Amino acid sequence: MIRELHEKLINKETTSVKLTEEYFATIEKKDKDIFAYLTLTKDLAMEQAARVDEKIKNGEEINLLEGIPGAVKDVLCTKGVRTTAGSKILDNYIAPYDATAVAKLKEAGAVILGKTNCDEFAMGSSTENSAYGPTKNPHDLSRVPGGSSGGSAAAVAAGEAVWALGTDTGGSIRQPAHFCGVVGLKTTYGRVSRSGLMAMASSFDSVGTFAKTVEDAAIVLSAISGRDKYDATSGDSFDKRFEDYLTGDVKDMKIGVVQEYFANLELGMKKKMEEVVERYKKMGAEIIDIELPYAKYALPAYYVIQPCEVSSNLARFDGIKYGMRADDENRSELGKLGSLGLEGLPRTLLEAYLDTREYFLGSEPKRRIMLGTYALSSGYYDAYYLRAQKVRALIKKDFEKAFKNVDMVLMPTAPTPAFKLGEKTDDPLEMYLSDIFTITANIIGAPAISVPCGTLETDGKDLPVGFQLLGKWFDEENMLRAADAYEKSNLKI
Ligand code: GLN
Repeated sequence: MIRELHEKLINKETTSVKLTEEYFATIEKKDKDIFAYLTLTKDLAMEQAARVDEKIKNGEEINLLEGIPGAVKDVLCTKGVRTTAGSKILDNYIAPYDATAVAKLKEAGAVILGKTNCDEFAMGSSTENSAYGPTKNPHDLSRVPGGSSGGSAAAVAAGEAVWALGTDTGGSIRQPAHFCGVVGLKTTYGRVSRSGLMAMASSFDSVGTFAKTVEDAAIVLSAISGRDKYDATSGDSFDKRFEDYLTGDVKDMKIGVVQEYFANLELGMKKKMEEVVERYKKMGAEIIDIELPYAKYALPAYYVIQPCEVSSNLARFDGIKYGMRADDENRSELGKLGSLGLEGLPRTLLEAYLDTREYFLGSEPKRRIMLGTYALSSGYYDAYYLRAQKVRALIKKDFEKAFKNVDMVLMPTAPTPAFKLGEKTDDPLEMYLSDIFTITANIIGAPAISVPCGTLETDGKDLPVGFQLLGKWFDEENMLRAADAYEKSNLKI
């Protein structure tokens, strides 16, 4: 899609300003129902688009992403623009700098339409934890778009953006991509700088992208990846152009499958996965059965380590350094007394912290902070945090072993298509279980991608589903090549 739009721009069949206006018109029309966007950045977008048009007019060369409109998840800082992380505690926060991924997109000339809705601080699987209200799935407004990057997934699915940045800590790009019928790319930990990303669980957080096609995702990845002096964990991408690796050929590839993952799926989903496996076989890839004995502990290990990191990272939101602060005015608005039962302004620093966090953090961040603080406290640290880290190391070993025989692993992205709004909000454990297949990639820091593979009929509606490829560390090239080859073979049928 990006390539076609690029051709249109350079052949002067359209302009970036026109294209950007068209996208804003679609947003105007559809977003009242879908609510993918929290903030629109119209002035910035039009300025950027006009700059690109000027270049084209002057006969200058432009790159593929230049002048193409997209969106950014609201956990990534955008200079001079409100950045809320889906939380009331940052309701008034204007970021003073750009996240590196955003700065790189701007450098590449991409047009940023706005900031997308997400679960509060990216904790959740449905976007229902956003303090601003849920995003709806464009394929069925009574269903969730997935989460936490639900706004970005819905924006791309609804044609309200060509591409959209998301973040993936436990599945937040791939699961919404699967629910919304788009491509969702989670990058290797360190492939894209985390500078300017609101830290949630720093050892899992990764920046990636949504798009309509694998090639589009590859094009965005080429723009945002690379070593960054502001993130010591980032690695060099050597100016790789990931889109150049998409040959459509998988004949040299060995793809691992874990039979157990398929066996436990519901019938419809199981059939879909078997079809995908068959397709890869037909395309000439070798399918190899593998075993990952410790991978079943990925979910419990994640839900110990992740809250620990959250409890530490979210300590910075205290009403002093950033964002909202409990004061006289909003106290009366909330109709509450202070944490110590006193009226008026907080009287001590501790009271200011407690009140601010009580009023402005939602229940999911509070739940994780409590869980994490508990798991890290003396006497429990060894039993929970340390043990979970040991399990994490064992899971990584599973994959190191498997990757001696296969190039990547093919798995489901999620057990079911999109669920209904409100279906899982009363039961956090049920919600956590929707990440059962995605969390493994974050536990080991590997790249993974969700690729659409048709629809499943659910309650009389055809809902999109995807499958997942999990690649070797810093081997997005081959993973994208396999994903793109599937997509291309889809077109042939
Ligand atoms: N749903 C998972 C969680 O709530 C993952 C979220 C994410 O990837 N940001 O932690």
